[in-house]
Order: sequence, then structure tokens, then C-alpha cells
Amino acid sequence: MPTLKSLLLLLCVLLHCGSSAALSGKFWHITDLHWDPTYDPNDQPERVCASSGQRPADNAGEFGDYVCDAPWTLINSTLYAMKNILPEPDFIVWTGDDTPHVANEDLGEEAVLYIVSNLTNIINQVFPNTTVYSALGNHDYHPKNQHPSGPNYIYDQIAQMWEGWMQTKSLETFKKGGYYTEKLLNQEGVRVLVLNTNLHYSQNKQTQNMADPVGQFNWADQVLSEAGNNKERVYIIGHIPPGFFEKKRSMAWFTAAFNKRYLELIQKHHSVIAGQFFGHHHTDSFRMFYNSAGSPISAMFLSPGVSPWKTTLPGVVDGANNPGIRIFEYDPQTLLVKDVVTYYLNLTQANKAQAHWEQEYRLTESFKVADASPGSMHQVLESMANNPSYLQKYYEFNSVNYDLTECDSDCRIDHVCAAREVDFDAYEHCLEKEGAASLRAALLPVLTVACVLCLLS
Ligand SMILES: [Zn+2]
Ligand SMILES: [Zn+2]
Repeated sequence: MPTLKSLLLLLCVLLHCGSSAALSGKFWHITDLHWDPTYDPNDQPERVCASSGQRPADNAGEFGDYVCDAPWTLINSTLYAMKNILPEPDFIVWTGDDTPHVANEDLGEEAVLYIVSNLTNIINQVFPNTTVYSALGNHDYHPKNQHPSGPNYIYDQIAQMWEGWMQTKSLETFKKGGYYTEKLLNQEGVRVLVLNTNLHYSQNKQTQNMADPVGQFNWADQVLSEAGNNKERVYIIGHIPPGFFEKKRSMAWFTAAFNKRYLELIQKHHSVIAGQFFGHHHTDSFRMFYNSAGSPISAMFLSPGVSPWKTTLPGVVDGANNPGIRIFEYDPQTLLVKDVVTYYLNLTQANKAQAHWEQEYRLTESFKVADASPGSMHQVLESMANNPSYLQKYYEFNSVNYDLTECDSDCRIDHVCAAREVDFDAYEHCLEKEGAASLRAALLPVLTVACVLCLLS
């Protein structure tokens, strides 16, 4: 006969299990796969891959090289690592950039579509029953970065490829402007908003002088207003983020006007936005959004790329990364981001032995925060800004354990200000403020000695 105590205990366990199961979900975020179909590790170093731009691929192996975009073996290894680590995610977020970094002349509309279609197919093969929320990257158009403000052949073809992942209404807006919204997993109270921020890229000549390409900002404003009326919680998904690149000072992607517009959108609707998920940087970072009183209101997560490709952006030293993928743990009702777990492949080791994907870090453990809410991400930022050991930890994660050099005072300013300020003016102000703080810290010992000497003399 079970005692009353044991029955009560059983009831407690059941209730607890029930409640925690209901409040915990997981999804994958992958980005910047950049498949390079020309990759051949057996060719001469300068000719291993078109994406190296003739930089020698001296360590080319089965899974890639740091000067090249991803070979198919790496794409395949990534998808099967995901299947192995978390075979049944609630959904997958895929934030674009599928084609290699090569000249427009080496691609073409059909080549771009061929690459997007192959990546779509492998995701479908490995996760046949999983919904994928997929955003276009600046490389997912021909010519690259030139996404038009209206219907075109490429949006249309890609909509057909992703048909199984989207609802009918989503397909319509996607064909029109490369963006869409729908209820998350068709459930009440939760929503995704997938944006085409390539329309806001300063390199996009098609949209330079427009106030609101395809009316996307107006549309997003309406969607978020309605979401507020319906008491929904929303995830925003996109490729190019607003704000600044943390690896190159004062390097922004959006035009000033579009950057302002995006920031206004978040400030107006932050109470319904539970998270923003972007790519494009290939690095692991985040961006904070604050209200006018300086309180954290939203966080944008920038996930690392799968492609290890070393950027050719002038001024960035050794900007490669190890391939990274990540799981977000979240509350399926409130969409609160509870934790972020990043997995990676050490490319050098993989080429020497075999592909071994491992956990790189868990946000709450590494940064000693309760969750990944805006308040907690603000705490992460303050730890980075004020504690050199947290800064160094963040810095090594930033390149997915590729660049293990010291993050010096200039590096600290670049990373802290990029994470803290999305607004152009506020970012410049941050550079000045943090620069003065660094100078004070550097001069303090000198001034102290000078003072002591002065008193002694
Ligand atoms: Zn990219
Ligand atoms: Zn990109």
C-alpha cells in the first residue's frame, strides 16, 4: 500500500514535470551557410575554392578552410550534427546567405536558385517534419545585395521552394517583398515576423532613395500593433541587422534613415517583441535596445555562421570563425528566451581527425545570468564592459573559438559600443565615452606614481 506521503510526493513530481514541460521549448538557429560548390581540397592552394579570391587555402581539408566558404561536406556535417544533438526542435530559424562570396559574374540567377534549392532540400531531408522560418540574406539574390522593392523572379522561385514551410498569406507577401508573418507553429498568442532587411542595406542601389521599400516598415508597424491588440508575443527574424559591426569601428549596414526607422519600430512595439534573431556578421554577438529612460527593452541575438570564411573587409584582421550553430531554449507561451546554447566544430581538428561537434558554451552558465531576457543581456553587456575576464570570454566566443588573441582596449570599445548602441549618434557618443574611460584606466597608474613622487618631493 502506498502511503499518503508517497502519493503526495508522486503528485508533486507529476505536477512539476507537467508545468516545466509546458514552459520549455527549443529551436535551432542556423545562418550564413554560404555553400561553395567549387571547393576542392586537392587543388593548388590558390585554387581550392572560388570564395578565397586566390588567397591560399593552406589548410584545406575535408571540412573546409578558413579562407573558403563551406564545402558540401561541412553543410552535410552541420545538418546531421543538428539531427544528432536535437532531432526534434519545435522549429528552425534559418537567416540566409546561402551562396559563396564570389563575383556576380561567377554566379547568376540560376546558380543562386540552385544553391538555395540544394540547401532547402538537405534541411527538408534531415528535418522533414519541422517548420523552418527562413529569411533572405544579401547573398540570396542576383546581383547580390540588389533585392528589389517588389515582385521578381527570385522571390517567386524561392517562395515555391519554401512553400511547405509557409502559410498561403505568407507566400503572398514573400513573393511581393521577401517578408512574411504568421502565427508561430499555428498557435494562438505567439507570432513570427520574418523581415527582408536587405532592402535597408546601404549597398542596395534599388532602394537607396525610398522612404519605405515595399512598405515593409509600415506593414511591420501594423502587424506589431495588431499583435499588441491581440496580446501576442512576437519573434523577429532577419538577416542584416541594424547598428554596427563589432569587428570594424563605425561600420554600419543600414542607411542612416533605415536604421532610425528600425530602431523606432522596436522602441514603439518592444512590449510584444520577445526576441530578435539575425545573422550576417558570421560572429557571435548581440545588440541591446533601450527606452528613453535607459532601461533594456529588447535584445537581438546575432548567431555565428556555418561558413568559416575569413572576411576580406578592409580593416578587419583575421576575421574568420569556426562553424557554429545554436539552440535557443524558450518559453512557448511567453516566448521568453531562457537560454542560448552554442555548438561548434573546430575546423582544424575536424580536418585532422573527424568532425566532432561539441557544446561551446551555455549563456546562463558562462555569463552567470538567470536567462536571456533583455535585462539579463544588459547584465552580460555590463560584465563585458567592466570585467576583463568576461570581455575575453565573450571575445573568444565571438569568433567561435577561432581568434584567441587578447581583446585590447580598442577591441573592448568596438565590441561594447556595437552591442550597446544601435543608434548612429549614440554609438559615436559611446566610442568617445568608452575611449575616455580606457584612457583614464591606462593613465591611472602613471598619475598615481606621479602624485606620490610629487608629494615626496
Ligand atoms: Zn554571410
Ligand atoms: Zn549577409
